[in-house]
Amino acid sequence: MAETFFDADAELEDIDVVSVLLPLPLAGAYDYAVPGELVVSPGDYVEVPLGPRRVIGVVWGPGSNDVASEKLKPIEQRFSAPAMPESLRRLVDWVADYTLTAPGLVLALTMRARGAFEPPKEVAAFRLGVSEPERLTPARQRVLDVAADGLLRSQRDLAHEAGVTSGVIKGLVKSGALETVMRPVDQAFERPAPDHASPTLSDEQSAAAGRLVEKVCSKSFSVSLLDGVTGSGKTEVYFEAVAEALRQGRQALILLPEIALTLQVFERFTARFGAAPAAWHSGLSQIERRRVWRAVASGEAQVVIGARSALFLPFPDLGLIVVDEEHDQSFKQEDGVIYHARDMAVVRGQLGAFPVVLASATPSLETVTNAQLGKYDWLRLGLRYGAASLPEIITLDMRTAQLSADKFLSATLVDEMTKTFAAGEQAMLFLNRRGYAPLTLCRTCGYRMMSPDSSSWLVEHRFQNLLVCHLTGYSIPKPKKCPECGAEDTLAACGPGVERVYEEVKTHFPEARIEIMSSDTIRGPQEIAELIARMEGGEIDLLIGTQVVAKGHNFPGLTLVGIVDADLGLKGGDLRAAERTYQLLHQVAGRAGRADKPGRVYVQSYMPEHPVMSALLAGERDGFLAQEAVEREILSMPPFGRLVAIVASGRDGPQVETYMRDLARQAPKADGVMVFGPIPAPIAVVRGRHRHRFLLKAARDFNIQAYVRTWLEPIKVPNSVRVNVDVDPYSFL
Ligand code: ADP
Repeated sequence: MAETFFDADAELEDIDVVSVLLPLPLAGAYDYAVPGELVVSPGDYVEVPLGPRRVIGVVWGPGSNDVASEKLKPIEQRFSAPAMPESLRRLVDWVADYTLTAPGLVLALTMRARGAFEPPKEVAAFRLGVSEPERLTPARQRVLDVAADGLLRSQRDLAHEAGVTSGVIKGLVKSGALETVMRPVDQAFERPAPDHASPTLSDEQSAAAGRLVEKVCSKSFSVSLLDGVTGSGKTEVYFEAVAEALRQGRQALILLPEIALTLQVFERFTARFGAAPAAWHSGLSQIERRRVWRAVASGEAQVVIGARSALFLPFPDLGLIVVDEEHDQSFKQEDGVIYHARDMAVVRGQLGAFPVVLASATPSLETVTNAQLGKYDWLRLGLRYGAASLPEIITLDMRTAQLSADKFLSATLVDEMTKTFAAGEQAMLFLNRRGYAPLTLCRTCGYRMMSPDSSSWLVEHRFQNLLVCHLTGYSIPKPKKCPECGAEDTLAACGPGVERVYEEVKTHFPEARIEIMSSDTIRGPQEIAELIARMEGGEIDLLIGTQVVAKGHNFPGLTLVGIVDADLGLKGGDLRAAERTYQLLHQVAGRAGRADKPGRVYVQSYMPEHPVMSALLAGERDGFLAQEAVEREILSMPPFGRLVAIVASGRDGPQVETYMRDLARQAPKADGVMVFGPIPAPIAVVRGRHRHRFLLKAARDFNIQAYVRTWLEPIKVPNSVRVNVDVDPYSFL
């Protein structure tokens, strides 16, 4: 850690200059003068002038004193919000340093809660007063009856519950029968009770939970891999660790890869602990964000369940982070600050001296390697909980299925669905492709419908009658004529998406209750929650979904899973294609038979002999990972080596190329690093911007950040060229 920190508790009384970090893409913190009447401490939220603007930033430390203090602008005000904890300030610096990002941009991730820094607003609330009303009408009596429970209510709520107008309330206040109290607008978080509804754990669950509880008690940094087969009760086990953090009065954070999962764990948490946790994800309203941010900062919200950005909330006393489904690539943020939330969670644990738990049935090779090296404690759950057994997996060789080009479900899979529905059970079909068809082609001239400004095909979304670019969101109504040759009605859909599978299933089972779950069909957390609740409640016979259905869901009535195209993920050919396909298929398979009825999984594949398929069939996860590890080690690929991608983009293609060639010429020579490129990126154009990339491969102990900094800093980037550095890339497009 380059940064040195001075005593966090010391107020900067004698200091009249401090550095303030602003949530903007600046090279570092700026100095500001502290006016005589103000006392500030590191971590305080302050408002400062910046050019003509006023910006809220955070006091980062003593001033650098590069500029004479008389010339500095003064801090305008200090906010009442609790100061940013030192461990979070250190995380901001650490992440900025590691990801080669301006620290202000990382700071911005911690401040995504408008209005949270100002004093919380208060509103009037009402409760029973001391005097009797002089006149007791039936309406007044109803209000007093409602208020008799002693709870505080807003005027609106009280009037609504009693079925009276606001005039009645006002009258009662005037007579002293109701009393007005000011309370914060934000509703308080209830305290979860660690022993509210503790489950009886199985022996292996108990052993794992015991280890995690010990770690929480030790109040020191450690990482545990909670490696349990799907349905083994990982959630119940890590809840025990959360319970221990609660007993100690500390906070806990549970990170999940998807909003849909956040909601499911939210419900389970509420049942287990008797109070709702705080939720943090992109679906929150501004008001809710402010409420959660403040409650986390004050310590009132003890447990947060959230998506990756929850990692940057200002917990003053965090005692545990759980990263559930740790293998999931959604933890990697791909734009803005490019970071991996799982890896940064481990860093936060280290800086804050508390344990981190990584949970998965299909842990990443990175994590398994760390467990093998003894850096992480490896806790295994080998059995499904209760009567549930692991599902049987069967591959269907599509080379012999003899389907016509517009059909995608083999006869066996259709038969199995018939049996499942007849037994009153549920089925799920998985296809990782949104929309109706991935490609639209003219049967006359062969023209392929392309995005106008990106290297991407247009995907048909038939239910909306649109052709959509999945890279940029560009869309047009599906044309009647081929834009190239002008022939009419010749545009044909090629290949399947979930909508097309829906159409095919409907022809077999017109009566079945079928729903699609993909990011296009469900909008917002509420809709996801409703869909999941209906699936759980058996109101849906067949759920067809993209990868959103693969993740962690627990549908007790689901016994049949069909994987429509198991080969899809293998075609991309990036570093983790096999690993990711294995994880995805294993996870989807793991949705089947989670309660008392056994599950079956049918895997349609054109390459059933592929190592991914055979490992899946044989339940040979560890063997598969070991083989992956050997291959990556030979090539010095992650986790045995390190990668950095550098992507430059701009509207003027030749200019981007020239800049990249300049860079290539000036790449410093160093042992332990190889620079590949520049080459045009596989997705060569996005929104009219031409993209070129370098890939750097380095030994694990090579300081790749220092190398990239030395390389890039002296070379001027043309104004119209944008450069993105991606440390530990997961996308190679
Ligand atoms: P995983 O996360 O490992 O896939 P879950 O935690 O979702 O597994 O558990 C699967 C199912 O088994 C859930 O319905 C869960 O409530 C139930 N379950 C697991 N362990 C217990 C237990 N000890 N007592 C009661 N129910 C349990």
